[in-house]
Amino acid sequence: MLLGCIADDLTGATDLALMLTRAGMRTVQVMQVPDASTKLDGFDAVVVALKTRTCPVEEAVSLSLKSADALLALGAKQLFFKYCSTFDSTDQGNIGPVAEALLDRLGADLALVCPAFPTNKRTVYMGNLFVGDVPLAESPMKDHPLTPMRDSNLVRVLQRQTKLKVGLVPFAVVHQGAAAVSEAFAAATAKGESFVVVDAITDQHLIDMGTAASGMRLVTGGSGVALGLPANFIRQGLMRAAKAPEQLKAPKGRSVIIAGSCSEATRGQVAAAKAAGIPAFEVDPSAIQRGSLAGSEIAAWAQKQPADKPALIYSSADPDTVRKVQDKFGRDAAGSMIEQTLAAAAQAMVKVGFTRMIVAGGETSGAVVNGLGVTALEIGPEIDPGVPWTRSIGGTELALALKSGNFGAPDFFLKAWDRLA
Ligand code: ADP
Repeated sequence: MLLGCIADDLTGATDLALMLTRAGMRTVQVMQVPDASTKLDGFDAVVVALKTRTCPVEEAVSLSLKSADALLALGAKQLFFKYCSTFDSTDQGNIGPVAEALLDRLGADLALVCPAFPTNKRTVYMGNLFVGDVPLAESPMKDHPLTPMRDSNLVRVLQRQTKLKVGLVPFAVVHQGAAAVSEAFAAATAKGESFVVVDAITDQHLIDMGTAASGMRLVTGGSGVALGLPANFIRQGLMRAAKAPEQLKAPKGRSVIIAGSCSEATRGQVAAAKAAGIPAFEVDPSAIQRGSLAGSEIAAWAQKQPADKPALIYSSADPDTVRKVQDKFGRDAAGSMIEQTLAAAAQAMVKVGFTRMIVAGGETSGAVVNGLGVTALEIGPEIDPGVPWTRSIGGTELALALKSGNFGAPDFFLKAWDRLA
C-alpha cells in the first residue's frame, strides 16, 4: 500500500477513491478506521471515510490520528487528508487541528493545502478560493448552516485554525511548473512555514503540485490534488498503473434501486425509471409512522416483482410534500425514520438474494451501508461523474452504487446495470 487517505466525509471519500482509481491506483474505501480484520491486501491506495467534518475537534483529531496509525502500519508512504473543495470548516477547525496533528504524527515539516478542483469550478488564486465565478465568501457557502464560509482567503482561514505558520505558493510560481513549486516548498520550510496554500486554476497546476509533492509525507486538499499523486509512485517504480475498470464483476443475484434522496436529479431519475416500466414502490412516511409499513414489507413487495428487472423503492418527493412530512414529524425525526426503514428493507432484501443495489442519497447511503454491515468497498467503474460501482469486501458480497442525491444523468437508474458483468 502506498497512499493512505483520510477523508472527512463519506461521499468525499468516494470522490477521492474514484479519482485515484481513474489515475491507475487499485483503491479501496473503508467505512471506519481499519483494523486487523479489514482485508486490504493488493491495494495501492486505501481511503478511510470518516464523518469528522463538523464533529467536535478532539474527536476529529483522535479519529484521524487512529486512521493515520492504521494506514502507516499498512505501509503507507504518504498520507492524504481529504476535505471539501469549499474548505468547509470554522475558526475552531476541523481542518487546521487535524492537519496539524497529522503533520506532528508524521514528524514532517511541511504540508500543502489545496482544495482546488477546476473541473468542478473550484479554483485558488493568491490564496483566495473561488466557487464558480465568485469568491468563496460570496458563494452560497456563506450561509452554510454548519460551516458558513465568510472569508475567501485560505491563508487567513487556515491561520485562524492553527498555531503553525501558514504561507502561500502563488500562481506566478505554480505557473512555472513542478520544479518551481518544489523550490517554493523548500523556501517555505526555510521560512518556518508548516502549511502552504498552493494556487491552482487548471488541472496542470494540480498535476505539477502533485509532482512537486512527491517526497512530502502529508498532502492535504480536495480530490483534485490527487490527480498528480499516482504518477509519483509509478515514476518511482513502486506500482504499475492499473487500467481503470470498465465493468464490475458483480455477484449473481437480483437488482434493486433504493432512493431516499429528494433532490431534483434523483426525482428525475425516479420518474425516468417509472416511465421505462421499472416496477416501483412509493414509501409513504405516514404509513411508517403509523406502524403499518416496515422494511420487511417493502422487501416482500420487491421479491414478488419480475426477477429480470430491477425493482425501485423510493421515498423521494417534491419539496412541498417533504415540507408537510417534516412539519408533521419534525425534520430530523422524519429523515431518520425513513432512512432506518430503507436500511431495514435493504437488509431484508439481501437476505432473500438481492445483491446488486443502487442507493440514492448521501445520508440514505450511509444508513443502508451501516445497516448492511459493509465495512469496505472496492472501487469499480464510474457510472456518471463522481459515482462508481463498488463491491463490498467482507460479509455478503454486494455490488453497490452509492449516489449523492444530486449526481447522475436522468437515465442513471436504467443504464448503471450495463456496467455490471
Ligand atoms: P441527498 O444526497 O439528496 O441530500 P440524503 O439521503 O442525504 O439525500 O438526504 C435526504 C433526506 O431526506 C434523508 O434523511 C431522507 O430520509 C429524507 N427523506 C426522504 N424522503 C422523504 C420524504 N418523503 N419526506 C421527508 N423526508 C424525506
